[in-house]
Amino acid sequence: MAKETKTKGQLLQKKLSKIDKSAWEFGKKQEIILFSKDYKDFLSECKTERDVAEFLVKNARKEGFKDIDVVRKYKEGLKVYSVFNKKLVVLGILGKKKPSDGLKIIGSHLDSPRIDLKPNPLYEDQGIGLLKTHYYGGIKKYQWVNVPLELKGVVFTNDEKKIDISIGSKKEDPVFVISDLLPHLGKDQANRKGYKVVEGEELNVLIGNIPFEDEKIEEKVKLNILKILNEQYGIKEEDLVSAELELVPALEPRDVGLDRSMIGGYGQDDRSHVFISFKALLTANPTYTVLTCFFDKEEIGSESSTGAQSLFLENFVSKLLDLEGCEVKYSTLSEVFRKSEVLSADVDGAFNPTYPDVHDPKNSTRLGHGLCLTKYTGSGGKYNANDAHAEYVSKIRTLYNQNKVPWQAGELGKVDFGGGGTIAAYLAHRGMNVIDTGISVLGMHSPYEISSKADIYQAFRAFSAFLNLKK
Ligand code: MN
Ligand code: MN
Repeated sequence: MAKETKTKGQLLQKKLSKIDKSAWEFGKKQEIILFSKDYKDFLSECKTERDVAEFLVKNARKEGFKDIDVVRKYKEGLKVYSVFNKKLVVLGILGKKKPSDGLKIIGSHLDSPRIDLKPNPLYEDQGIGLLKTHYYGGIKKYQWVNVPLELKGVVFTNDEKKIDISIGSKKEDPVFVISDLLPHLGKDQANRKGYKVVEGEELNVLIGNIPFEDEKIEEKVKLNILKILNEQYGIKEEDLVSAELELVPALEPRDVGLDRSMIGGYGQDDRSHVFISFKALLTANPTYTVLTCFFDKEEIGSESSTGAQSLFLENFVSKLLDLEGCEVKYSTLSEVFRKSEVLSADVDGAFNPTYPDVHDPKNSTRLGHGLCLTKYTGSGGKYNANDAHAEYVSKIRTLYNQNKVPWQAGELGKVDFGGGGTIAAYLAHRGMNVIDTGISVLGMHSPYEISSKADIYQAFRAFSAFLNLKK
């Protein structure tokens, strides 16, 4: 067959125009499928921030990572970790280049939106046992009703004994449900504003219905629930004050679509990048000293001792400098940060074709079209943004191109339509070069978020290339 000759315009277009291709057109189908299997297993195992931290530490130890507090000497290739309050984890590999040469860091967050129990959760109303809750992170509350929920977390008894609770993940387990109003009586509810269709104080969870048999007792159902809790877990009502109990969707991650191109599952913001960066670290062969940081509390502004605003990173990097034999001073530490480069690995909201009005189609990221490169986040006039320097955007873009990683540039939605932030701003605050990059998802912050398998695998390739940077 004769070779088709391209027109002048076609040639010029190929040379000058930015091309947007599906990540599936970059091949690697076998690898994509294998990687997504492991990813689904991870999502299924890790439904709370404590689950994720435990998974990371357990598997890092298996791979030879040592608690940084027991390491005495700097050695190239040595793998170290630290965990704080069972929620914030940092893993690192010591490089040929020392920490004082600057670090390559991938940061993600292991917390996800969820529904927490209030300090005094248990009550009875109309013969039904219920739990009061307080939601965590930015959720559309109406999405969390009539969905089976697992109850997971810890309770501490009066003698400070820790009790682990996990109910709802096994097939034979009961689940918990926030029951919505029936449509027949929903006339007034339907007239409420969208964000008030279900309000915070209406997120009450069903926990029981059988009364304790004793005529002299009021709130018999509540007493029966307390009896069960005491028999099965040895706890009393007051113990629920010193607890962290979370309700998360009792939904298993599944392939989505006839072509099995997508994954549906809870917590993909941001556990997708936790898993991807962890895998990339395990297979890295770094020149620089590299870290993967898994922060908590991102969904509520990176606050608290385990969030990205805390001084945990200062503490960890000081220990690295100490191992290297540097005198740890504020100026040394801040110099390391200034020489460091970070990928803030978090999800972006993909263009939802059913709601085109909220997106700028020319500056929106598409599901299955590779990693997003997000120069700035924020809202309004870029308030509360990290704004990556063009020099650094250029470096990462070149890295992705050299490694044939599909990527796309964009921002969250139309200007003035909303917005959001990540951990990026808090790392940039320390002087590091930071850019937001990661997969895009549909239905972010819902009980069942959707990602693309090809994006996930390509993010793994991108992160691997970053950790192996030679300059
Ligand atoms: Mn996130
Ligand atoms: Mn989020």
